[in-house]
Amino acid sequence: MKGGKLIVFSAPSGSGKTTIVRHLLKQKELNLEFSISATSREARSNEVDGEDYYFISLRDFKDHIKNDDFLEWEEVYRDNFYGTLKTEVERIWAMGKNVIFDIDVAGGLRIKRKFPDKTLAVFVKPPSVDELKIRLKKRKTETDDRINMRIAKASVELATAPQFDYIIKNYELDVALKQSVDLVAAFLEGGHKNLP
Ligand code: 5GP
Repeated sequence: MKGGKLIVFSAPSGSGKTTIVRHLLKQKELNLEFSISATSREARSNEVDGEDYYFISLRDFKDHIKNDDFLEWEEVYRDNFYGTLKTEVERIWAMGKNVIFDIDVAGGLRIKRKFPDKTLAVFVKPPSVDELKIRLKKRKTETDDRINMRIAKASVELATAPQFDYIIKNYELDVALKQSVDLVAAFLEGGHKNLP
């Protein structure tokens, strides 16, 4: 696979990485396109198939695993599979664009290992696990059980932060957004050597 660069944003659920990724996508000069993941989880009411995710059945997901169609995949939560199809990255590179991923910590590190030189792997750090809980509750997209599952996973994920190229502290959103734009711009210009 040849093509543009890969920008990975990973973080525990509720850290604000999706907000940061959406902001980066608005910066046209960065020439980014969102990698739409495939998932076996059900769509939320505000989500659109083929925009937020490719929503597919568990069976189809497992067929893709067997066929080696994924660049990476994870069972992020029990029976909820998420993965990046190789065809998705090829689609974006064929457009002449750089790929931006909003994926979990294990998937992000896997992409970094596959493409060490062309990947910028960023970890978004929330102020605290308690704050994550508050944000997830406010979001009202998840049941209490699911929130607890996400919180339990968050502590494990936070421990992986040092393995990333860069940690953005999302304590104040405006600051985190600006830092993210500057960071990605520097990487696209000069690779790892240029990081602030
Ligand atoms: P959600 O259910 O909130 O949309 O996503 C749950 C978690 O799965 C998030 O951390 C999200 O970033 C992650 N995720 C989404 N797509 C992928 C993917 O393709 N691969 C991996 N490994 N994780 C993903």
